[in-house]
Amino acid sequence: MRILKVNILFISAIRYMKRLTIRFAGRLLLIQAFLFFSITVFSQDTLLNKHGLWVIRSVDVYKKTIATDPSKKMVSINSKIPNAILDLKYAGTDNFMHERLYPVIHTTYLRQAALNALDSVQSELRAKHLCIKIWDAYRPYSVTEKMWEPVKDDRYAADPKFGSGHNRGIAVDLTIVNLTTGKELDMGTGFDNFSDTAHHDFKFLSENILQNRTMLRTVMEKYGFKALETEWWHYYLPDTKKYELLDLGFDKL
Ligand SMILES: [Zn+2]
Repeated sequence: MRILKVNILFISAIRYMKRLTIRFAGRLLLIQAFLFFSITVFSQDTLLNKHGLWVIRSVDVYKKTIATDPSKKMVSINSKIPNAILDLKYAGTDNFMHERLYPVIHTTYLRQAALNALDSVQSELRAKHLCIKIWDAYRPYSVTEKMWEPVKDDRYAADPKFGSGHNRGIAVDLTIVNLTTGKELDMGTGFDNFSDTAHHDFKFLSENILQNRTMLRTVMEKYGFKALETEWWHYYLPDTKKYELLDLGFDKL
């Protein structure tokens, strides 16, 4: 009798273990399927490029980043500063590459935070009958890769190993126009002059030129931009890493 009882108990225990195993295996399968799905979707969003950088190429991923931080939104310069003068050099062939690197565009983009700061710059300049003239702002990462090839000097072009403030939507290349004469202020060199004459510490220039450069730098820094020492026309927001590198077409923004 006692042996029978032990046997029944033993059989019940085995049945219970079997049920547990089936239930567990089912759950394991579900977990595996979930992980596979998530990793596939996740890796498409976070795939690092050959330099180990995360470059956003998907509009959906970009939208997720701005949903959590609206200051990252890419906003058209025309919509916020309609009286800014735009001469977008890479949308034409008048640039150091001698080729059109952008599609035909009539505006360009900056992150909301950078654009707000630039709007303050423009307001201050307009009060003096001056105006900003923009040569470049947002630049897709793939264009930076293309520009690096002929230059390969990180004083004058962004190394794709790190990306550019332009790719992050927080850098702008600009000068100042006198609204009375309609002419650009004399800054000593034109845009994309890859020589030491374009450096901020190059002082063998007329007093007028040095004053013009100082005026641009002073007003840009007043509203939070930082100067690049090797290019008098390039300014960027300092909290660089907060803004992801983007490789989205202008029509996607
Ligand atoms: Zn620049």
